[in-house]
Amino acid sequence: KKVADRYLKREVLGEGTYGVVYKAIDTKTEQTVAIKKIRLGKQKEGVNFTALREIKLLKELKDPNIIELIDAFPHKGNLHLVFEFMETDLEAVIRDRNIVLSPADIKSYLQMTLKGLAFCHKKWVLHRDMKPNNLLIGADGQLKLADFGLARIFGSPDRRFTHQVFARWYRAPELLFGGKQYGPGVDVWAAACIFAELLLRRPFLQGNSDIDQLGKIFAAFGTPKPSQWPDMIYLPDYVEYQYVPGQPLRTLFPMASDDGLDLLSKMFMYDPKGRISAQQALEHRYFSSVPPPTEPASLPRPP
Ligand code: ADP
Repeated sequence: KKVADRYLKREVLGEGTYGVVYKAIDTKTEQTVAIKKIRLGKQKEGVNFTALREIKLLKELKDPNIIELIDAFPHKGNLHLVFEFMETDLEAVIRDRNIVLSPADIKSYLQMTLKGLAFCHKKWVLHRDMKPNNLLIGADGQLKLADFGLARIFGSPDRRFTHQVFARWYRAPELLFGGKQYGPGVDVWAAACIFAELLLRRPFLQGNSDIDQLGKIFAAFGTPKPSQWPDMIYLPDYVEYQYVPGQPLRTLFPMASDDGLDLLSKMFMYDPKGRISAQQALEHRYFSSVPPPTEPASLPRPP
């Protein structure tokens, strides 16, 4: 049976933050797509017009490193979002013990992540829920950011579903301190955590509560001094804490190059105002020094 007279539903791909995701065939283009069914709650007619208007803006976000939103429509009280179908994701790559990631491969994955981020930040759209399983990988090896802007439209996922624990590990300190006027820096922090995870092959800062997450950050980088981050003390959930020394980044990431480490330290700046932007990160010498990033088509992927 066709949905919206156009999509032939196939199997369920998984259950996500906002609802079930189906594989489907777009009969108009013969393309394989992924349809995300979003439960809209108790709105009249099940259609949330604000969400629809915002979704329309996301349809305009077209970039090689952003997953394309092909179509969006309400159907039987649910909002359906149609995306291009992707083979795998970065989490599967990082977890696969049979995959060796060379420094050039890591550079390529980080570069594609930052390109997608820089594009959206230029259009004033934040992701807010960056994590390796939101970085999808297509048959051509291109990495594309998924779920852009959805956190803002449908609410922060972690507040809706408690099982959503992984996102915490990628959360910037200004968010953990309850900051509400955050900016693109939150996505750069998450990208830094993903860079670290590509190097370590395991999540870098694995907090088991928001407080513990801050503790993990402090244990790695040392407690931030007010001189390093003057606005910190004005954040809603800021509390005074005991001084903890950090560890040298070199000790934490013995496998990183000097250029890679320098970029990582700039992405992990405590003060979001001092944190490097996605665009500046792309211009960092890490990306022009040897080895050059691996061509997407040559990147290692799970079978
Ligand atoms: P989460 O909210 O937990 O990140 P999602 O809602 O993004 O999960 O996705 C749920 C499942 O559907 C995941 O297992 C993911 O692999 C799959 N999926 C999501 N989008 C796509 C896509 N564009 N192509 C293929 N599979 C997808």
